[in-house]
Amino acid sequence: MDDFFWDLFQQFQIGKIEKSADHAVAASARAQAEVSTVDARIDRLSLMCFAMWELVRERTGVTDIDLMKKMHEIDLRDGVADGKRGFAPVKCANCGKTISEKDEICIYCAQQNARKTKLIFP
Ligand SMILES: [Zn+2]
Repeated sequence: MDDFFWDLFQQFQIGKIEKSADHAVAASARAQAEVSTVDARIDRLSLMCFAMWELVRERTGVTDIDLMKKMHEIDLRDGVADGKRGFAPVKCANCGKTISEKDEICIYCAQQNARKTKLIFP
């Protein structure tokens, strides 16, 4: 009789594990689909950037070196040369606490960020 309950318990455990594996397979498929979507968007953005750069270079005389210098300058605006566009810390005009340049309002006192220009690509 003990064997019967042991086998029953084992079958129950196997069923739980099979269900868990099915969920993992479904989650993996969803993640792969999202990665494919992001890859497609990055490819399109890369193509668009390349086209824009060619137009700018052809019509203005700006060089590849100019572009690299500007990329480096923008990269360093947050104080870190990491190949990413960061946001410099700024002081809130109302409370004086440090907030991010990209924030529309101060996270401490809700004062409007006093940056001079509106960010086109936040
Ligand atoms: Zn503030």
